[in-house]
Amino acid sequence: MREDRALTVALITHPACLEHDTGPWHPECADRLRYVLRALEAEEFLPLVREAAPLATIEQLTRVHPEDYVRAILAIVPEPGETVAIDADTLMSHGSAEAALRAAGAAVHGVDAVMEGWARRAFAAVRPPGHHAERNRAMGFCFFSNAAVAARHAQVRWGLTRVAVVDFDVHHGNGTQDIFYHDAALFYGSSHQFPCYPGTGRAVEQGVAENVVNAPLPPGATGAAFRAAWSDTILPALDRFAPELLIVSAGFDAHKADPLAQLRLETADFGWITERLIEIAARHSRGRLVSVLEGGYDLDALAASATLHVRTLLQG
Ligand SMILES: [Zn+2]
Repeated sequence: MREDRALTVALITHPACLEHDTGPWHPECADRLRYVLRALEAEEFLPLVREAAPLATIEQLTRVHPEDYVRAILAIVPEPGETVAIDADTLMSHGSAEAALRAAGAAVHGVDAVMEGWARRAFAAVRPPGHHAERNRAMGFCFFSNAAVAARHAQVRWGLTRVAVVDFDVHHGNGTQDIFYHDAALFYGSSHQFPCYPGTGRAVEQGVAENVVNAPLPPGATGAAFRAAWSDTILPALDRFAPELLIVSAGFDAHKADPLAQLRLETADFGWITERLIEIAARHSRGRLVSVLEGGYDLDALAASATLHVRTLLQG
């Protein structure tokens, strides 16, 4: 059994992630995750090893965020049916604190899965997303930096010295970049629409040791430009960094159908980037790849793109 599991992919999620209620009109809604999970019920995904996301611990979160920030977020538990606005588009409901803990906990569990070796890759199907959350600031639908918490866990729990997060969400991961910028043991590479929210991610933002690589793309850019940015800029730098673990901030809002931005990717482009990342992980990371869901706001395009991503993780 153990050998069979070593050939497969962990799918980590939790029903609590559906209880983060952003109201009836918010793009970052529970239906996003419902669509993804429903699509992953297809027979072809039976080989996934399904795991319930644990709660992230205070210790895990405070490797990234100040403790007073973590405790302040967790203390916001509105009455059922009510919401509290952290910023204009970042809302907390009764279930949000647990959802945020499960989302970060899923990313950490994915790291443990591939480091223990019982799975070769992992996909954390979670919300709220994480890549906009800065050390002490919730923003852009995000509370805790799920991918960065996972990267720090890999450093501290598993002693890794080179951990990379790559991010193909259409928005720049300002939070991950902020956390990684001055740590040469961490790599952050991102393609994203520019100009666009949150306004960071210029090519000149390169980190303390060129450990940050940004590939901004203009509104209207297609999959060809996306693939060129990765092939010419991000993947060569990632190859040089030679990560011992590859963490993916997997946002699918660069799809041409997505309502929040203006890139023009096809669903197939998400399969292409997944294949390239599997190659990097095979070359440097003993195949270890942990993918964490970020954005994606057209429900059908999100489900199609995420399932292609997971199908590729299963086959590659
Ligand atoms: Zn996004």
